[in-house]
Parts: sequence; structure tokens; C-alpha cells
Amino acid sequence: MHDLRLTFIGSGNAFSPGGLCCNGFLLNDRVLFEAPPQTLGSLNTVGVDPNELDVVVLSHHHGDHFLGLPFLLLHWKWKGRTRPVRIVGPRNTEALAKDIAQKVFPGVLDISYEIEWAEAEPGKLCRVNGLELEPVQVEHDDELSSTLGYAVRYHGRRLAYTGDTRLCDGVFDIARDAELMVSECASRTDCIPIHMNLVDDMPRVRAALPSGSPLILTHISPDVDNGNLANTLVAKDFETYRV
Ligand SMILES: [Zn+2]
Repeated sequence: MHDLRLTFIGSGNAFSPGGLCCNGFLLNDRVLFEAPPQTLGSLNTVGVDPNELDVVVLSHHHGDHFLGLPFLLLHWKWKGRTRPVRIVGPRNTEALAKDIAQKVFPGVLDISYEIEWAEAEPGKLCRVNGLELEPVQVEHDDELSSTLGYAVRYHGRRLAYTGDTRLCDGVFDIARDAELMVSECASRTDCIPIHMNLVDDMPRVRAALPSGSPLILTHISPDVDNGNLANTLVAKDFETYRV
């Protein structure tokens, strides 16, 4: 059986509380979920060459999930990338990424490698490099084009990732048959209408998952622990978890 190996390049929410890096994680060193602003630094810390990434998957366009992309593009242009890369994200990802990247690093898209942009839509299966992504609509910031969670199939294994969201049907949908779930948990007790918290929401997320499937909390504030929930742990910056 293929291992699912998750390495967190960050585990904090948008405010980087307590010095935590903003949330993002690698799947088997080849697929990057989210591109937080510190992406390049974090990849260097965990010893993963950005040129070895096959796919970048974005849940939405808030800066803590998206603004590392211009830096990845910078690295790929100037540090010898030759093979194609896929970038998957919600509606308007390509246009927004190109607009920002060209403005902050002019010329960064004059490139000799190939970028394949894939627009993720809820319910539409997206296949890239042996990865099968099923985007689900979650409920976060209505001012954005869309916010997605993902049910992921990778070499026959099933991973779920919530993206940023309040507790909603999309979260329960992807939890049901996941072997491993990565969930945002932005605070311990705060009732923020666009996020989940530990005390009110995580017991319900945990209950929706098969009991043998680990739940990993990320996008946290430093006072988030595992809430004494079974088979639940809190992601740490630069740590790797194997399932
Ligand atoms: Zn967000």
C-alpha cells in the first residue's frame, strides 16, 4: 500500500500567531496544498526542491493560501525548472495569479517550462499526475470567487482537506470515507462565522470521519490542542506525518 506522507510547510492561520507559518502541506513531497506567503522559505527548511513539485492545489484566494505563488513562479523561472507543473484552483485562479505575479515580478511568466492551469469546480473530477481531486463547495468568504475543499485519491488512498470554511455540508461530505483528514481549526473557542473552532466544531468533524482515520488540525492558533478527541493531532510546522 502506498504511504500518505504529509509534511506541513506551515500550520498557522492568517495572523501567524505565536510565529507559526501560514498553513500549507506537501503530499509525498510532490503535491503542494496551498501556497502561503512563506512557501519558498518553508520548502527550503523541509529540504524539498520547488522544481520537484508536480502539482500545486489551492483552496481559495485569501493571501495566506495564495500569495506564495508568485515566489514559486520566481523560483521556477530563475532556478532551472524544465518540466511542466500543474496548478489547480478555484475559478479565476489563472487570471489572478498571472496579474499579481506579473506586477510584483515583471517578466516572471516569460518561461521555458510549461504551466497547466486547471480550474476546479465542485463536483467535477480533476485528474492530474496520478492524483484525483474531487472539489467540494465549502462556506468561507462570499467575496472570493469560490472556496473549495477536496476529496483526494492518490495511488488508491483517500485523503480529505477542508480548506478554510465554517462547518458545512461540504466538510461532512469529504469526511465520510476519508482515510486521513486535514481540517482547518482556526481557533480554540472563537465563533468566527467563516471558520471552525476546536470546542464546537471538531467533535462533529471527528464523528463524521471513520474512527480509524486520523484527523490532523491545521490553520490553527497556538492554543489549539487535540481537544482530547480520539485519533486527532495538531499539525506542527515542518513535521511529517505518515499514514
Ligand atoms: Zn481563508
